[in-house]
Amino acid sequence: MSICAERAAADGLDACDFTFVLVEAPTAPPNAFQTRSSDGKPVITVNSSLLAQLRDDDELATVLSHEAAHHVAGHIDRMNDRTSPDAFLPGDAGGYTAQSDGRARGRALELEADWIGAFIAERSGYDPAHGANIFERAATKQGAKTSRTSSHPDPSQRLEVVAAAVAEIGRQRSAGLTPRPESAPAL
Ligand SMILES: [Zn+2]
Repeated sequence: MSICAERAAADGLDACDFTFVLVEAPTAPPNAFQTRSSDGKPVITVNSSLLAQLRDDDELATVLSHEAAHHVAGHIDRMNDRTSPDAFLPGDAGGYTAQSDGRARGRALELEADWIGAFIAERSGYDPAHGANIFERAATKQGAKTSRTSSHPDPSQRLEVVAAAVAEIGRQRSAGLTPRPESAPAL
């Protein structure tokens, strides 16, 4: 979690002390979300139905890095203690209860988490381009069904963000840099 440490240096000690929770919920919709423990530490929860749909470690890294990115970017505070489920695959229970004007903002935060998450996954030794296959599957299955009223972005948009992040990571690596997600494009 070096990206977290770099960003949280000024924030305090426990900001990167993650707890991972796997909830056994075989009949529930696939689900992942981020919360804080009662003492303020970041918690990432994935349920077993989402885990069952992931095909390899790169895809798992994409999910966990996305949730970690919400923490790293301070999205919980920015969304008023949002503890929403995240939609990675068609049929997920993704979305949170928000006023309509909050939905576009919610989608922007999701894309920001995808952008930062790609850097976290790559820095952790995983392949974010391969991990993005979960969005590829979602795009294929979901087709044009994604609604503008959804709190989650269109899977094809998420693929574009990850592709842009992968390109930026490659650019920084080629320049001899350690990839950092500072220079996010306008999302
Ligand atoms: Zn998310």
